[in-house]
Amino acid sequence: MSVESLWFDSSRCFVDNEWIAPVNHQYLELYNPSDGSVLCQIARGDSDDVDIAVESASRALNGIWGRTSALERGRILHRMGELVLEKTEQLARIESLDVGKPLTQARADAVALARYLEFYGGAVDKIHGQTIPYLDGYTVYTLREPHGIAGHIIPWNYPMQIIGRSVGAALAMGNVSVLKPAEEACLTALAFADIARQAGLPPGVLNVIPGLGAEAGAALASHPSVNHLSFTGSVGVGKLIQASAADNIVPVTLELGGKSPQLVFADADIDAALPFLVNAGIQNAGQTCSASSRILVHRSVYEQVVDKMAARYTSLRVGPALDDLDVGPLISARQRAIVQSFMDKGDDLTVAARAQVNDQLPGNGFYVSPVLFSDVSANHPLAHEEIFGPVQVIMPFDNDDEAIAIANGTRYGLVASLWTQNGARQMRLARRLRSGQVFINNYGAGGGVELPFGGSGHSGHGREKGFEALYGFSTLKTVAAKHD
Ligand code: NAP
Ligand code: MG
Repeated sequence: MSVESLWFDSSRCFVDNEWIAPVNHQYLELYNPSDGSVLCQIARGDSDDVDIAVESASRALNGIWGRTSALERGRILHRMGELVLEKTEQLARIESLDVGKPLTQARADAVALARYLEFYGGAVDKIHGQTIPYLDGYTVYTLREPHGIAGHIIPWNYPMQIIGRSVGAALAMGNVSVLKPAEEACLTALAFADIARQAGLPPGVLNVIPGLGAEAGAALASHPSVNHLSFTGSVGVGKLIQASAADNIVPVTLELGGKSPQLVFADADIDAALPFLVNAGIQNAGQTCSASSRILVHRSVYEQVVDKMAARYTSLRVGPALDDLDVGPLISARQRAIVQSFMDKGDDLTVAARAQVNDQLPGNGFYVSPVLFSDVSANHPLAHEEIFGPVQVIMPFDNDDEAIAIANGTRYGLVASLWTQNGARQMRLARRLRSGQVFINNYGAGGGVELPFGGSGHSGHGREKGFEALYGFSTLKTVAAKHD
């Protein structure tokens, strides 16, 4: 299987609106997770390429982009969004092949990317400073200004959405960007760069250097000219990025995943909850930072929820991304080994249900069978460690306090949901959950780009999406003028 729909040279870096070979002529192979075949070669960029990208970004910042008005930046983002929409099918197919994501989910990512560009493009000329009443003889006002050069290091699970929410916001606010996509999946990052060029984004405003985290990623994170870092990925690498940010004293946004719970109370509309309880765990084969991997259920309805979720699990269809079933393969053999080792840790648990994997699937694809473990105690590793695969645990609770204690009992705090008809409980418990987002009688709210997103604890810090992202990708200058 090949990526015949690529219209650019995937083995190059994108710098200054040009496709350039990596300085040291090193390359990596990109795999198709659905069958394990090699898709194409990509550049193995390193610190030399990052240096060139940062120089290009710096020229744009001090040149044309620095003089481009908010209105005009917004227009360019809108054009980028329109081109993304026009190319939705192409982008979705590329992403399906690269990430192993079922086509419908990849299509949704492309539409979300366009929507970020529309939202930020439309919002940016509505962001303004304030005038501040001060002493007689002074006029004081604030200016929202870009940080400067933004470094973005992103993972392989949702390249298009993460580019939309971080690069989109950075460019809207007048920053210039250098993006290091994941070595396992970087094709839509490159495609996006070319779309930006076609939409009229000036040279140097967005540069993309594919490569390894320890090489291109580390070089970008530690580059002394980079003024802001945004990172999505693992806790371990997040710590390294924060340490680099500390060295250079630059702001950093970390989005590090979670162990997000859904709490189902005795008065919940269980049939309404059911699709969310399962889909939030198996979407993108569970490789989602905001995946709901823990289902907490009041004991009085526990057996009923276990049975209904189990019935759904047994009907899940697993297969190649382009077959567009419920669950695709994992991203890599390495990720499959990680997820398999977690599944093995569940040997002492009750398997409530396991989806069947068709034995006709391409033998070299990175498939696992989604599994639901029941009666899991809160201190079991599967109940508090992020797995990043299609594995959910379901556990009973007896009262609201216990539910909150379990929900807040991991080191993460990204997303949570409450399923209850009781308005007072909804309000009370939404406040008590340690979580960047809380959903009531839904999960994810359709992923709206308007909704600020980010975590606490080991889920990270900083907010992307919504107006908060635009504030985060800018800094505030106070001007105090003394006059008669
Ligand atoms: P990762 O290693 O944290 O990768 C994320 C990004 O950071 C990639 O672009 C990676 O490059 C880069 N990177 C790696 N080492 C770096 C370094 N020393 N300096 C700068 N950048 C570096 O995550 P992963 O290996 O892809 O996945 C491992 C686990 O992370 C998963 O099992 C999951 O638990 C978690 N994860 C979370 C999210 C999320 O959305 N929160 C997303 C992905 C993964 P390479 O591509 O070369 O590694
Ligand atoms: Mg790939």
